[in-house]
Amino acid sequence: MTQKRDDTGCNNTNCMCDDATTRRRFLQHVTTITLGAMSLTVLPGASADGELPGDQEDSPGESKERPIFGFLVDTEKCIGSGKCLTACRVENNVPDGYHRTWVERYVHFKDGTVQVDLVPETGYSGSGLPSIDSDDVDRAYFVPKLCNQCEDAPCNQVCPVHASFTSPEGVELIDTERCIGCAYCVQACPYGTRFINPETGTADKCTWCYHRIMRDEQPACVEACPVGARVFGRLDDPESEISKRIAAIPTQVLKAHLGTHPKTRYVRISDEVT
Ligand code: SF4
Ligand code: SF4
Repeated sequence: MTQKRDDTGCNNTNCMCDDATTRRRFLQHVTTITLGAMSLTVLPGASADGELPGDQEDSPGESKERPIFGFLVDTEKCIGSGKCLTACRVENNVPDGYHRTWVERYVHFKDGTVQVDLVPETGYSGSGLPSIDSDDVDRAYFVPKLCNQCEDAPCNQVCPVHASFTSPEGVELIDTERCIGCAYCVQACPYGTRFINPETGTADKCTWCYHRIMRDEQPACVEACPVGARVFGRLDDPESEISKRIAAIPTQVLKAHLGTHPKTRYVRISDEVT
């Protein structure tokens, strides 16, 4: 599932162009003006001040009430089943070897060493990975990771063609028809959540299953989690489960010191987790 800004310039509703064709057409319309050492890229359909059609204010009479979504990860509940990983891969056609979400396992041994590895999609039982003697373990826990949907998203800020954008509901999305696969955003994300999809040649990442949440469904990973370690919902509804849980217990965000202001929040995250 891709998200698009409908401003590529193609008006043919039966258009059979593939993504590469559309991007080529888009690039033909990109004008780069070089002013000494500075270069200014002018986007087709953008106004002189850089405003894009999707940035315009609502029409008069259109409702300005938009949902405020939130995502909460409870590391104390996660059991490392890997069900969320398969659900995400199937729902979003994630190629083998890549992931929009992953689960890290932290094992603190009694000798003071810490081992961090990735939970296999099958979970650990039957994975063939060597088991760990529980007598050697001081404590262990699982940490699901996904896009943090940062309010001040570096990925969004570095995109040279405005393919990375924020939806009206505050979800960070990628317009795959605009994306030129330069991977600037992959480099800029301090959480390692983006990749270039080898099948599309464009940036890819978790969108909180935008296509599902906009039809009042849960993200696939949330639906698949057998223990409720992932909670998604509306923060503007005080009666939603996520609102109640955030009100009841302290929550944290990852790498708060970076000032990206993530909207994905964590319950009782350990200091070792970054
Ligand atoms: S976690 Fe990375 S990809 Fe997601 S919004 Fe933040 S910077 Fe962008
Ligand atoms: S790879 Fe990232 S930065 Fe480059 S065009 Fe695509 S979305 Fe923008």
